[in-house]
Amino acid sequence: MSKEIATPMKTKEILQKYGFSFKKSLGQNFLIDVNILHRIVERANITNETGVIEIGPGIGALTEQLAKKAKKVVAFEIDGRLIPILDETLAQYENVWIIHQDVLKADLQEIVHKYFKDCKEIMVVANLPYYVTTPIMMKLLEEKLPLKGIVVMLQKEVAERMSANPSTKDYGSLTIAVQYYTDAKIVMTVPKTVFVPQPNVDSAVIRLQLRNKPLIQVENESFFFQVVRASFAQRRKTLLNNLQNNLPNGKNRKQQIIETLEDVGIDPKRRGESLTIQEFALLSNALYKYFQ
Ligand code: SAM
Repeated sequence: MSKEIATPMKTKEILQKYGFSFKKSLGQNFLIDVNILHRIVERANITNETGVIEIGPGIGALTEQLAKKAKKVVAFEIDGRLIPILDETLAQYENVWIIHQDVLKADLQEIVHKYFKDCKEIMVVANLPYYVTTPIMMKLLEEKLPLKGIVVMLQKEVAERMSANPSTKDYGSLTIAVQYYTDAKIVMTVPKTVFVPQPNVDSAVIRLQLRNKPLIQVENESFFFQVVRASFAQRRKTLLNNLQNNLPNGKNRKQQIIETLEDVGIDPKRRGESLTIQEFALLSNALYKYFQ
């Protein structure tokens, strides 16, 4: 295969050759613009010492561009029909390993151990299947993999939520989960026209740089995230209302919640969306003793 995979003609030729039909349920929207792919790879600062994890290679459009720059690429593809296609389209790249598996079921620590020992850094780079964007991102972050960063294409709306500032409509528990672990920036917005088939939503590329240590010190991570989720449970309600309604046995602990909010200098009438991550940490650290 000489021409690059991601041209409209080459993609059509490959799809026709294999009689491939897209599965909407697997979020199959393939990129057919080589320039966009070059820009994604550029934003990820891949070098010949980088190991890359890709999620959903499709027919290999992005994989090919990554393989040209990276030391190795390990790509997870759930759809068995794509495996023989990838065998052919990526035949000339000896630094690519395709794993036929749902990435959500993969043991990523094991993959890191098995493939990337000789790499200086590890990046995740992908055009994500949009129906599972959030579970995939949370898996990558919560498993605390030794990643340098994550550069992914996703729904523009989700990218905006991940990189939002307090007191905006996009700010919520996803923002805090992502920014707790990473520094998040949208680096590109992408029109629908560069995909086949075209998705219903606009897309963006987000770059997440993993922090060496979390942005703030929290006493108990799972309680911190519980407080965050409770605070955003009903966006129109006050912080006090949300905390007492959504923390375990919160109604009986109303007085302690009020006192704690006063102690840490947070007005109980504020809404969750106005709190910074640091304020959530302060609050959850002070509340923790009542909920242990
Ligand atoms: N990387 C290709 C491109 O840019 O043209 C394809 C991207 S397409 C948006 C998403 C890909 O993810 C599809 O190939 C789909 O089959 C695959 N996929 C969907 N769910 C998956 C999962 N849970 N694990 C691994 N791959 C998945």
